[in-house]
Amino acid sequence: MAASEVAPRRTAAGPAQADLDKCVHCGLCLNACPTYRELGVEMDSPRGRIYQMNQVAAGAPMTPGYVEHLDLCLACRACETACPSGVPYGRMIEAARAEIRKRQKITLGGRILRYLIFERLLPSRIALQIAGAGLYAYQASGLQKVLRASGVLKLLGRVADIEALSPSAEVPFFYSKIGKIFAPVGQRRYRVAFLSGCIANVAFARLNEATVRVLQRNGCEVVIPAAQNCCGALHVHSGLEEQARALARRNIDAVLGGNFDAILTNAAGCGSTLKEYDHLLADEAGYAERAREFRRRMRDVNEFLASIGLNPELGRLDAVATYQDSCHLAHGQQIRSAPRQLLQAIPGLKLREMRLADGCCGSAGIYNLVHNDMAMQILEKKMADVNATGASLIVTSNPGCMLQLAAGARLYGSGQRVLHVVEVLDESYRAAQAA
Ligand code: SF4
Ligand code: SF4
Repeated sequence: MAASEVAPRRTAAGPAQADLDKCVHCGLCLNACPTYRELGVEMDSPRGRIYQMNQVAAGAPMTPGYVEHLDLCLACRACETACPSGVPYGRMIEAARAEIRKRQKITLGGRILRYLIFERLLPSRIALQIAGAGLYAYQASGLQKVLRASGVLKLLGRVADIEALSPSAEVPFFYSKIGKIFAPVGQRRYRVAFLSGCIANVAFARLNEATVRVLQRNGCEVVIPAAQNCCGALHVHSGLEEQARALARRNIDAVLGGNFDAILTNAAGCGSTLKEYDHLLADEAGYAERAREFRRRMRDVNEFLASIGLNPELGRLDAVATYQDSCHLAHGQQIRSAPRQLLQAIPGLKLREMRLADGCCGSAGIYNLVHNDMAMQILEKKMADVNATGASLIVTSNPGCMLQLAAGARLYGSGQRVLHVVEVLDESYRAAQAA
C-alpha cells in the first residue's frame, strides 16, 4: 500500500514566509475556489487571501476585514490541487487562523462557548452521549417534526439554520462497540484498528457498523481501540493546535503497540488530520518517531479496501449513483480513484460523474453552521450538478459531506439517498448474502 502524500504542517502560529513566497500570483487557482466563484471578489480568492497573509506577515495590522476574508475560506484545498507552483495553501490557512486565534480578543461568551465545544464536548465520551441522548429525545418524541412544521424555528433566525443541518441521533450509539474486537469472515488477512470518530459514534453509528462489516467481509480482524479519542481535526481547523496535539498523543498511545497492519478511518476530514500527526508532533521528542509510525499505518477506508483486492462476492444493486469527492480525501489526501474503483466493482450500479465532482459541497467541518448563507449558495449549485446526472444515489466519503448533501437532496434535489462508499458496499454484500 503506498501512503498518499500529505503536505507537511507548520506548527508555530502564522504561515511560513517560505510558503507565502511560493505563490507567483498567476491566478490559476481562482476558478477552483468556491468563494471566489460565488462572490467574484479577489480578497475572497486564494491569491487574495495569500496576498493578505503576506501583508500581515510584513507587519500590517490584523483588521476585521482580514479576519472575515480568512474566515470565509472553506479550507477545502481545491486551490492546492489547481496550483501549478505547489503552494501548500492548507497548512497556510491553518497557520494563519492559529495566529488570529492567538492575537484576537475574544468575548467572554465566545471563550466559554469555545471551551465547552472543543475542550468539554468533543473529547468527552460522556458529554457526547448526553448530548446525543438529548438529540435523540428531541427527534424520537416528535418534537422536531412539530417544531419544523409549525415554523416556530424560523422565528429564531440562525437556530433554524443550524437545526436544519443537525444529524439524527442513531441508537444504539457506536460507543457500545468501543473496546471490542470483531472477527474476520473466513480466513484472517489483516488485523486493523478502526478509529470511529467522536460525533460519528452518536450520529453515524450505522455507518460505523457498516464499515466494520465490510472490513470483516474482506478478511479483517477489526479492533475498536478502547482508549481512542476525537482526532482533533476540528481543533486544527479552528486554530487550536495545542488541544489538537493533546488529542493526537492520546490516539497514538491508544493504537501503537497493537500490532496493526493498518489504522483506519471512514471520515475523510479526520483522515486528513490523522495523516498529519507526524507534522503536528514533529517537535515533540517523546512522540515524533511514534507519530511517524502512526502515519505509516494510517489509511482512509477507501484507500485500504482498494489496495487489498476487494472481496468480489458482491450482490446486485440496480441504481444510478454519482460520487461527490470529499475535499479532504481528493484535495487533502489525493485519493480520487479508490472510491470510484470500489463503486464500479458493484454489479448493476451505474456510476455517472457530475460536473465539478471535486468542488466543495459547502459542508467544510462546521462552516455550514458558521457561514450558513454561503454554504447554502454553494450547496444549491452542487445539487444542480447532482440533479443533472439523474442519479438517485449520492455517494461520498465523509460524514460531514453526507449531512450537507442530505440537506441538499431535501431542499434542492429530488430526495436522493445519500450514502458513504462503505454503506453501498455493505448493501451489496448483504444483497449477495440474501440471494
Ligand atoms: S496559489 Fe498557486 S495558482 Fe494561486 S495565484 Fe498563487 S501560484 Fe497561482
Ligand atoms: S481552500 Fe477552498 S475556499 Fe479557501 S481559498 Fe482555497 S479554494 Fe478557496
